[in-house]
Amino acid sequence: MPGGLKAVFFDVDDTLYATHYFAWEARRKAVEAMIDAGLRADAESVLERLRIVVDRYTSNYPGHLDRLIEGYSEEAYAPVNPAIIVASGVVAYHGHKERNLFPYEDAKQLLEWLRDREVPAGVITSGIPTKQAEKLVRMDLVEYFEPGWIFISQQMGLSKEDPAIYREVCNTIGVDPRWTIYVGDHPMNDIDMAAEAGMMTVLCRRSGHYSNLVGRHKPTYEVANFLEIIEYIERDFPIR
Ligand SMILES: [Mg+2]
Repeated sequence: MPGGLKAVFFDVDDTLYATHYFAWEARRKAVEAMIDAGLRADAESVLERLRIVVDRYTSNYPGHLDRLIEGYSEEAYAPVNPAIIVASGVVAYHGHKERNLFPYEDAKQLLEWLRDREVPAGVITSGIPTKQAEKLVRMDLVEYFEPGWIFISQQMGLSKEDPAIYREVCNTIGVDPRWTIYVGDHPMNDIDMAAEAGMMTVLCRRSGHYSNLVGRHKPTYEVANFLEIIEYIERDFPIR
């Protein structure tokens, strides 16, 4: 293993793939299917209501479309059974998910590059464990990570908004945090926390989602894509 860099860990959402964009694409498909099934409303106004529901119940809540349809009076869908409207949206949502969940192209390139150079990679993510794992399986990325290096905060009883999880990961793999890199998109939850645990950090700005946030710690590297990460590693570490 090359000296100086012993492990690279990745956040999942909006780091390995465009989570927010993908989720709203899938929700748009759901709304269109609900209208096709008999909901009499225009797509933009339904999406606006869905945004409010998602904000209120958070993104992992399983009943967004049920709550959405409850906001309509019967005249908006009669004589169609509202459960058919909801189910049409659910099927469209999952259909979109099955066909369209891809990692950023250069994320795969970076993972392949690391693998070729025997720099082991892992994941540190938060969320519902099977949901986070499902994303990695669907994107076909599992093979790039060390089998024991998929760390999901909920399974560890820790939060990603706490440097303890990053320390715990480094302890578990037996590597000094100073020789590890954490790649994420959130200036506080990813970069500040990993930096406080002593890791090097890469802030990936491409999703633009947290562009208004500034963390306490300046990231070791700030990039717009993963090819820039390859350039920095080649520049700063003795890796061939
Ligand atoms: Mg993220």
